[in-house]
Amino acid sequence: MNSSKVIDVSCWRSDILGISFSNISSCHPVWPKRAMWLICMGLVLPLRKGLDYPTPQVRACVDLLSHDYFGSDSCFGAINRDNPDNKPNQGKIVQSVIPKNRAGVGLADTLSTDIAGLGLISRVRNALDNNEIAISLFIDMVPWYRRRGKHLTGQLYECEERASGAPCSETLKPSFAFLENPFLADLMESGGPVATDSAIVDLQLLELQKDEGLEQFLLVCAGFLSALEALGLPHSLSGVDRLVRAHGHALNEIFMLREGRFPRIPDLVVWPGCHDDVVKLVQLAHTHDVVLIPFGGGTSVSGAVSCPSNDPRTILSLDTSQMNRILWVDKENLVACCESGIVGQDLERQLQEQGLTTGHEPDSYEFSSLGGWVATRASGMKKNVYGNIEDLLVNVRMVTPTGVLQKQCRGPRVSCGPDFNHVVMGSEGTLGVITEVILKVRPLPSCKKYGSIVFPNFECGVLCLREIARQRCQPASIRLMDNEQFKFGQALRPVPSYLGLVLDGVKKFYITTIKKFDMDTMCVATLLLEGGYADIAACVCLSVCLVLITTNTFNNYPGDHKQVDTQENKIYEIVVKFGGIPAGEKNGERGYMLTFVIAYIRVGSMFTVIIERDLGLEHNIVAESFETSVPWDRTLSLCRNVKHCIAEQCKALGIQHFMTSCRVTQTYDVGSCVYFYFGFNWTGLSDPLGIYESLEARAREEILASGGSISHHHGVGKMRARWYQTQVSDTGVRLYQATKSSLDPKNIFASGNLLASKL
Ligand SMILES: Cc1cc2nc3c(=O)[nH]c(=O)nc-3n(C[C@H](O)[C@H](O)[C@H](O)COP(=O)(O)OP(=O)(O)OC[C@H]3O[C@@H](n4cnc5c(N)ncnc54)[C@H](O)[C@@H]3O)c2cc1C
Repeated sequence: MNSSKVIDVSCWRSDILGISFSNISSCHPVWPKRAMWLICMGLVLPLRKGLDYPTPQVRACVDLLSHDYFGSDSCFGAINRDNPDNKPNQGKIVQSVIPKNRAGVGLADTLSTDIAGLGLISRVRNALDNNEIAISLFIDMVPWYRRRGKHLTGQLYECEERASGAPCSETLKPSFAFLENPFLADLMESGGPVATDSAIVDLQLLELQKDEGLEQFLLVCAGFLSALEALGLPHSLSGVDRLVRAHGHALNEIFMLREGRFPRIPDLVVWPGCHDDVVKLVQLAHTHDVVLIPFGGGTSVSGAVSCPSNDPRTILSLDTSQMNRILWVDKENLVACCESGIVGQDLERQLQEQGLTTGHEPDSYEFSSLGGWVATRASGMKKNVYGNIEDLLVNVRMVTPTGVLQKQCRGPRVSCGPDFNHVVMGSEGTLGVITEVILKVRPLPSCKKYGSIVFPNFECGVLCLREIARQRCQPASIRLMDNEQFKFGQALRPVPSYLGLVLDGVKKFYITTIKKFDMDTMCVATLLLEGGYADIAACVCLSVCLVLITTNTFNNYPGDHKQVDTQENKIYEIVVKFGGIPAGEKNGERGYMLTFVIAYIRVGSMFTVIIERDLGLEHNIVAESFETSVPWDRTLSLCRNVKHCIAEQCKALGIQHFMTSCRVTQTYDVGSCVYFYFGFNWTGLSDPLGIYESLEARAREEILASGGSISHHHGVGKMRARWYQTQVSDTGVRLYQATKSSLDPKNIFASGNLLASKL
């Protein structure tokens, strides 16, 4: 039997809604189904061609997946029975559950065991229903494919050809986004360039040729291209390759991708293979006055990788994905030198094979790259033990048009004027290309423990987190959700068994009736504690090293199991003083793992339309998150003020269904990082994106007025550039400009991040 539940989602935010991919399938009659099927086919074809898959298990999974599952229509057939007309549900989502005896569940089980090494599956397995895991698998494969992105496009085309039986030339399409792109559709109808994968190239030439002033651009471009050919660096003019690298994951970018309104995309993509390639490429671009935009994992949420729309020069996307090796590991000094294009999950997997870890875990780490982390000053969830990127980075190489910026000494600390590592960190691709990074590594912890705490209200929770920080006993991660998020999380829980229902009832009775917590104010914190060493023999020696290399910004370092227990006890002693109740390891683990899922529901532009945002938009929901850092004494008032401000704005705009929630995600000696989630139902309103942007801008003003910062870790990009000057002062702006003029006199790193104006 197929079971289903109906959830009222009229005021929910879309990225959490998107967690259930079965929802997407049921509500998106054409694209997800087609996209999923094509992805499968894209996976199968190279197998038949004998291309190299990362592991035999993946190969087996791919076969299983394509033949037994999506190759047949079983999954979508089942889901579609809930929604026979395939109509969007206007505020309701039908969440289907694949029956236990169907291929889906078996598949999910097999896959979650077999390809655990690839990342998500094993973790989500604990957090979500089986049917959701099965569908997430496809997304799990994406990063692996991305690094081989150049091959993928062709395979997709080929699989379309096979599917339709028509010759390739008739079925070739630049991308699915393009198929729905009215701009391109008009162009084709008007007898413009044919729909080949270079359609956008032609489109741009066509457009630019209209503009006399830009004719030179074509010449420069041609000269540059032939010089590039001579260098022998892999490159592409394909529309898909360029479109994929034209955006990050911000709401407006996803919206533009969906609506086909990018004002500009890169003109070409180049894949350098090493530091020396980058040196040559930067020199070439400097000579030909070509704009370079470094592209790592493309997970930016600040508009940082998007193209400046009014720059008349050729724009080149410098994709670092082929620079993805760990060059050396020095176990004696606990450092590793890595190329900047390596993505987090590969870095961790390879280090873990050697019993090591960086411990750097931004929510996006399975997609984002080391170079991206450095360029944006990223923050990981476990920063209390391992530090943020600035604590982890020992040395970095950045190629600029006027030379390579690099410190000569690898000592743990140098007193030698301003630290230029900090010029590189946060430079957001505006000063040069980061090619190699020396990072601190640590032995893997042998003890990992989750936990959760229920508080009667958000105020108690914040005060408790502050006290834990004051006493410097923060676990690797501690995050506090407000009441809205708590309730939201509850709504997303899998349907419990009968026993589970009974247990839930007992817990609820205890919390609400005995402890007298109000369901409409209570909130939850999740904890992750880490400690102990995998390599006990080396422990003593390593401890000494750790003490030496650990800098002042984080508070503790892994000890043994006892240390974790002691830390846990200390935390719970504080918790009780603030009215909190420990709520178990399982809830903590689930809460921690769920945040990874967000990264997977935003990866659609790999080679198809964005899936995640479709869901929200199809249901008239526009949603996004934004974050800040704030001193402790302003944390609560900032949260209150921003929520109030958004509510007032929504009221003024006639928005009835909206949701604002927040969570404290990082804690420091002097303050916290607060994340806001905001979404609204725009039924009856035009220009949802414009409304969202004005609301977020208003919220940011309120954040700044309430003592918060422009960003804790997402960076400035283009979306927050208007506040850069206020944040760093006029003198700060001049200092940045002087640095830029010195390193990049022709402004070829002209993405427009940090400062919108031309230098
Ligand atoms: C779901 C989700 C969760 C996220 N969670 C977190 C989080 O927990 N913590 C966090 O800090 N961020 C988070 N982010 C934001 C994003 O992942 C980070 O900003 C990340 O560091 C970007 O890395 P990237 O490789 O994807 O960079 P990209 O998006 O490719 O680029 C970002 C910027 O860095 C520049 N850049 C990239 N590589 C280089 C290089 N080699 N040299 C010079 N410049 C370069 C680009 O030009 C661009 O300006 C999240 C994003 C998403 C979508």
